[in-house]
Amino acid sequence: MAKKLNTIGVITTGGDAPGMNPAIRAVVRTAAFYGVKTYGVEKGWFGAINDHIRELTAHSVSGIIHHGGTFLHTKRCPEFKDKNNRQKALANFKKYGIEGMVVIGGDGSMRASMALIDDFKFPINVVPASIDNDIPGTDFTIGFDTAVNTAMEAIDKIRDTADSHERLFVIEVMGRHNGFIAADVALVCGAEIVIIPEVKHNIDAIAAKISKGRQRGKESFIVVVAEGAESGVSVRDKLAKRLPDMDIRVSVLGHIQRGGSPSAFSRELAGKLGATAAELLINGKYGQLVGTKSDKVCPVPLNKVNRLVKKVEMEQLRIAEMLSS
Ligand code: ADP
Repeated sequence: MAKKLNTIGVITTGGDAPGMNPAIRAVVRTAAFYGVKTYGVEKGWFGAINDHIRELTAHSVSGIIHHGGTFLHTKRCPEFKDKNNRQKALANFKKYGIEGMVVIGGDGSMRASMALIDDFKFPINVVPASIDNDIPGTDFTIGFDTAVNTAMEAIDKIRDTADSHERLFVIEVMGRHNGFIAADVALVCGAEIVIIPEVKHNIDAIAAKISKGRQRGKESFIVVVAEGAESGVSVRDKLAKRLPDMDIRVSVLGHIQRGGSPSAFSRELAGKLGATAAELLINGKYGQLVGTKSDKVCPVPLNKVNRLVKKVEMEQLRIAEMLSS
């Protein structure tokens, strides 16, 4: 029988994502249900190294379920790549009697967790949270759905003004090195063009498609570009050279995609994944990425995740293109 843990920690690290708060709440409330003590680590790994650690009770996480960001705060912390600093973090965890940790974060947070497990066999389960949805081993990450909804609402508004003025808007969305946000947003907003890092794009072909659309009577155009493919400004400049008689504007959505109240889907994911990650940890099962597969919670061993590949669905791009023509 695996040893049951009596005291656990919870930490949010790396980039914030809407839904981190309901995930923290799920961890703390699950632990409380089992009579397990929880400590929250503030400011990510920086707080672990520098002892920003405090006890969290079921009451401490009241009223946070609908708030974006993370009430524990987060911080990038390159120093955590140094084993001496990880040793300091471990010593701090020991000071409070923390026997294991639920780490809520993205792929960097997962690498940091692997390092702690490799160095010290420290029990960790990871809950995937990232607006970019770029973590293999889970269909969705906490925060992605909210970011897509935020971008969709912004683009719907831009579409109104693009229609009125018969303009072309190039809209840059987030996604780091991937096109998951851009591909979803393009489909749900009916964008005429989507540019993502995974697919080589040709500006001449894009300009030709827009010209054809104009000949057919289309008056406004939305070009969604993922930040990892090319900047919106650069796409705008190139299109302006090829379509000199068009009124072309650019809008970089930026950090609004990180904030806001988590959507129902992000909260649901946060509740299920946070609770399961805590339950498994408390019951002595760890080293898992606790994500979902086909709508079911599905833990995957962390040491298998880096062998998995997650790709944007080409079928989705095909459908988006077909529907926008
Ligand atoms: P995210 O988790 O959102 O991808 P980061 O890439 O910034 O964000 O990773 C979160 C944190 O994890 C980093 O700031 C750093 O403290 C730590 N980290 C990332 N990669 C490693 C690694 N290879 N070894 C140890 N710590 C790491």
